[in-house]
Amino acid sequence: MINYQRDNQRSKTYRSEAVINRSDHNHRFTTNDQCQEYANEILSSNYIFKIYEKHNKLHNLQAIRVIPNKSKRTSSNYSQSRKILLSQTPYHMSKLALLHEIAHQIHYDLTVSDQIRSYLKLTIKEMAEAEDIEYPEFHGREFNHIFIHLVKRFLGKEAKRALAAEFKKNKVKYTVSKALF
Ligand SMILES: [Zn+2]
Repeated sequence: MINYQRDNQRSKTYRSEAVINRSDHNHRFTTNDQCQEYANEILSSNYIFKIYEKHNKLHNLQAIRVIPNKSKRTSSNYSQSRKILLSQTPYHMSKLALLHEIAHQIHYDLTVSDQIRSYLKLTIKEMAEAEDIEYPEFHGREFNHIFIHLVKRFLGKEAKRALAAEFKKNKVKYTVSKALF
């Protein structure tokens, strides 16, 4: 079975990020193509390549499709495997919001992807006997560690400092004992 850990830092992370989203550090896009290009630029960067290489996860480094989320009911972005569903609002179609979703994909690729892949190849009987997979907290310290490093690299040191200050204010944990990035 896959055990999902409680997502304790979700709203605190969103609250912290909102301040940076509305600041001059962020940049908004107007079309889905621009968002896709930005995601491509991040994922094909040497910086990301090096990180996957360091963790022996290059086999997980694949393109991510950015798809407009036309749902009228919700206004938030979603990450699924190799897909980002992007709400069509200025807030969500921005560099910062995209970096958040890309951080989810990287977090998944570096921490659980391989285990889940092999789990899904098992027979039902083997699944029942297999050890549980611990799916890390969606917005836990590891995720925010990756996120803030992406912000530093792609939005700059000032943006990173501003986000770190918000994290501190809202008591969001983002440091890890063993650096992923
Ligand atoms: Zn998220």
